[in-house]
Amino acid sequence: MLTVNEIFHSIQGESSRAGYPCVFVRLTACDLRCTWCDTAYAFHEGRKMSVDDVVAAVAEHGCPLVEITGGEPLLQEDVYPLMDRLLAGGHTVMLETGGHRPIARVPAAVLKIVDIKCPASGEAARNDWSNLDRLAPHDEVKFVIQDRADYEFARDVIARHGLMSRGPAVLLSPVHGVLDARTLSEWMLADRLIARLQLQIHKYIWSPTTRGV
Ligand code: SF4
Repeated sequence: MLTVNEIFHSIQGESSRAGYPCVFVRLTACDLRCTWCDTAYAFHEGRKMSVDDVVAAVAEHGCPLVEITGGEPLLQEDVYPLMDRLLAGGHTVMLETGGHRPIARVPAAVLKIVDIKCPASGEAARNDWSNLDRLAPHDEVKFVIQDRADYEFARDVIARHGLMSRGPAVLLSPVHGVLDARTLSEWMLADRLIARLQLQIHKYIWSPTTRGV
């Protein structure tokens, strides 16, 4: 069984698939408490569903792209059979994870978006750095940037781990309503940083606080 916070059909607001229709499966619970978390409602709220139920609910939307997110989706053991089932059904499956849980058991065909927590999140000490060695070229690494110190942390991690040349896309996402996207853009351009500026476009299409989009 899985504890599911919500399943909904929307526009993918993040990652290299931003702009595409996508079904989101948001699983309940997280063992981090990022200061800027925008899905705290997923810490506890949820209903029990079997893997079959979730697969059926996803199928109702008739959408090839599915993202499993949270909360922290890798906390629930049945996320693994869920990923297998969605892949077997022909879906393109994305997984958004906080970066502190090992991704070793995630099926290779899943597109993993792995966060690296920056200092302002309050959770930088929890990063599982071994995850960087497990990334495939189709995976993505995401830094949420709140301030200049976060940016310099991300820039140093990108350089130290050779992320600009290793294949996985590198995403830099300003904390919405806190760090101006133009400021972050100018920092990236000044440093010739080969990374993708990521805006959470669903927060521009709908209100930043709207749930289920
Ligand atoms: S890992 Fe994600 S869900 Fe968990 S506290 Fe951080 S932002 Fe929120």
